[in-house]
Amino acid sequence: MYPSRFHYEAPRTLDEALDLLQAYGDEAKVLAGGQSLIPLIKLRFAAPAAIIDINNISGLDYHEEDSDGSLYVGALCRHRTLERSPLLRSKHPTMSATAPLISDPMVRSRGTLVGSLCHADPQGDWASVMLALGGEIIARSTGGERVIPVSQFVVGPFQNALQPGEIAVRARVPAPRGTRSGTYLKLERRVGDFATVGLAVALETSGGTINRAGLALTGVGPSNIQCTAAEQALAGKTLNASTIDQAARLAAEAAQPKTDVRGSAEFKRHVVYTFVTRALSNPQARAA
Ligand SMILES: Cc1cc2nc3c(=O)[nH]c(=O)nc-3n(C[C@H](O)[C@H](O)[C@H](O)COP(=O)(O)OP(=O)(O)OC[C@H]3O[C@@H](n4cnc5c(N)ncnc54)[C@H](O)[C@@H]3O)c2cc1C
Repeated sequence: MYPSRFHYEAPRTLDEALDLLQAYGDEAKVLAGGQSLIPLIKLRFAAPAAIIDINNISGLDYHEEDSDGSLYVGALCRHRTLERSPLLRSKHPTMSATAPLISDPMVRSRGTLVGSLCHADPQGDWASVMLALGGEIIARSTGGERVIPVSQFVVGPFQNALQPGEIAVRARVPAPRGTRSGTYLKLERRVGDFATVGLAVALETSGGTINRAGLALTGVGPSNIQCTAAEQALAGKTLNASTIDQAARLAAEAAQPKTDVRGSAEFKRHVVYTFVTRALSNPQARAA
C-alpha cells in the first residue's frame, strides 16, 4: 500500500526540528530509523500530516559515559552501533546482550534505541532493558528539557509520555551502585522474530550483596512489565537457590501472558520462571 500524503521535513538542527514540531503540533511524527514508523504509514495505521526526519541533525548519533559513570545514548544511535560497542561489552552487559537480538542486521543498522522506546511496542526489547536498568528519557521542546523515567515514559501499548512538540533527544542509564552484571534472554520462534518471552536482568552488587536488582519482561503483557516484587525480594540479599527461586516465582506471577500463535499462557509463564532462574544462576548467561 502507498502511504497517505504528508509533508516531508528534513531539518539540519535540533532547534529547527523543534520549531517544526511546534508548528505542526500532534499532526507531526519524528522519523529516526524508520523501522517501525515507515511500515505503519505504508499500512496506513498512521497518517501523519508531516514527517520530521531527524537524520540530518548532527550530534545525535553517540553513546558515551559521563564523569559520574552515567551512560547516554543519543536519539540517532543505532542498534548496530550498540551491538558492536566495546563500552557496552565491558560495562553494560544487559544492553550488550540485547543489541544482537533485535531483529536482523538490516533493522539493526537503521533502527535506534530511543526510537524503540518512543514506539513503545509491547514486544520491544529495549523498554524491558531500560526498566531493569532504571533508565530515563530526556525530552526536549522549545521550552527546554525534562527527564522522564522509562517506567513513566511507556504509558501503554504504542503510547509514550511525550507531549506534542517534544523530541526524545537521549536516553540515560544511571551509574551502578557497585558492580554491574546482567543479561537479556529472549525466546523467539526463529532468529530475528519478536520475543515470545524476553527477560532483562540487571544487578548491582557489592561483595556478593545485591544493592539493586532490575528485572523486566517482554512479550508477556500489554506492555513491558517491571517485576517490582521480585526486585524487592532480591535487594539486600545474596544469590542462592532460595532467593533465586523466590524471585523466579514472583516474576512468573507478575507476567500477564496470553495464549497466541507463539504459545500458551502457561508455557510462557513457565519460560519466565526458567529464564529468571537461569539468568540469576549465571548473570553472564547469553541467549542460546
Ligand atoms: C522486521 C522487523 C523486526 C523487528 N524486530 C524487533 C525485535 O525483535 N525487537 C525490537 O525491540 N524491535 C524490533 N523491531 C523494531 C525496531 O527495533 C525499530 O528500530 C524500533 O522499534 C523503532 O526505532 P526507529 O529508530 O526505527 O524508530 P522510527 O520507526 O523512526 O519511529 C518509531 C516511532 O517513534 C517515534 N520516534 C522515533 N524517534 C523519536 C524521537 N527521538 N523523539 C520522538 N519520537 C520519536 C516516531 O515518531 C514513531 O512514532 C523490528 C522492526 C522490524 C521492521
